[in-house]
Amino acid sequence: MAAPSFDGREIALTHHSRDWLERNGVWDRIPAQCISPLKTAQIESGDEPSSNGSGALLFTAPPDSADALGFLVPNHLIRTALHEAVSEQSAITILAGQGVVASSGNRDKAVLLLDDGSLIEASLLIAADGRFSRIRQARGIGAIIHDFGKQIMVCRMRHPEPHQGVALQWFDKGQTIALLPVADDDQPGHLSSLVLTLDPANIAALKALDKAAFDRDVTRRTQSRLGPMSLESARCTYPLKTVFAHRFQTTRLALIGDAAVGMHPITAHGFNLGLKGQEILCEEIERGDADPGAPEVLRAFERRHRRATAPLFAATNGIASLYTHDAGPVLALRKAGLLLADRMTPLKTLVTGFLMDRKGAS
Ligand SMILES: Cc1cc2nc3c(=O)[nH]c(=O)nc-3n(C[C@H](O)[C@H](O)[C@H](O)COP(=O)(O)OP(=O)(O)OC[C@H]3O[C@@H](n4cnc5c(N)ncnc54)[C@H](O)[C@@H]3O)c2cc1C
Repeated sequence: MAAPSFDGREIALTHHSRDWLERNGVWDRIPAQCISPLKTAQIESGDEPSSNGSGALLFTAPPDSADALGFLVPNHLIRTALHEAVSEQSAITILAGQGVVASSGNRDKAVLLLDDGSLIEASLLIAADGRFSRIRQARGIGAIIHDFGKQIMVCRMRHPEPHQGVALQWFDKGQTIALLPVADDDQPGHLSSLVLTLDPANIAALKALDKAAFDRDVTRRTQSRLGPMSLESARCTYPLKTVFAHRFQTTRLALIGDAAVGMHPITAHGFNLGLKGQEILCEEIERGDADPGAPEVLRAFERRHRRATAPLFAATNGIASLYTHDAGPVLALRKAGLLLADRMTPLKTLVTGFLMDRKGAS
């Protein structure tokens, strides 16, 4: 936990998340040279390149926003910084290297059984054990699970052309590619994070390629937009399943992070929503009557967090399904949709504001 290794994920943090991390002494622990400002989000559909922006839907940050839509930070560096900050809190005891085997809750307390047989009692158990949360399942909370039947491969690529801070989300025919602008290092060339979504057999075949063949394949897939691509990291894979828990709480238990809402990565909001969930929970605990696990506290948290996440979860799944459907008429509709959206200034302003999220927890 203190030194997690690179896991491929580059997290696009909103301004709100960055501010929260700053206020809580985490942001300054992330090496500044590893933070990459996200200046433009470019969305494309179909197999014709539109790197000049024509036919693409573009979002750019308004001039008063430090010139960034958000900030791209490697996930393992966020985890390292969070761990450091938490370790310095004298009121927190970290019990690492042990899983939670079982948990229960009654009117007065939550009880946890750990791997080593020890029991912990608390007024509230908060489960943040990921989108396949065992605690959620064991406590009988079901979930909407949308299996896209695909896998995501993430890795860093080096290339000669600068990315100019542009995050490209490209719904190509038969593949979905994101190229995210990573901060340069001291080596020649520039770095991007490749996020490639394909069916599991294709991902397995790509993972098995040697570096030279993989580089050629990625250069072809990205149509040499940034020049020849060269693999710079491990190739990490994730199943593409999204999850929305039927409930976010039960007796003396609250679900946060992916355990409550496991988003599709296209809108880059999973981690941001996870932070928001814990903020809402803290606010409701503070508002309550000194019992953090009281039913009314947990119900208020659940109400607010569902309201903040349900529309986004549904909209993201809908867009992801439409934009990975390659039948001829749908392809034309996808392209027309992007063109129309690009001309609708109020819509673009709304979405840009949402992507940046400079407001507080709602
Ligand atoms: C490719 C990719 C790109 C992404 N990009 C973005 C992005 O740009 N922006 C964004 O906001 N989000 C992004 N996300 C989503 C983001 O990574 C997740 O939302 C976030 O990491 C979830 O954090 P979490 O702590 O809830 O869950 P996890 O990171 O899954 O952590 C769960 C933890 O619980 C532990 N655990 C599990 N079971 C037990 C047990 N029984 N006992 C004890 N511990 C247990 C695990 O070991 C793990 O450490 C991306 C995700 C992917 C896959």
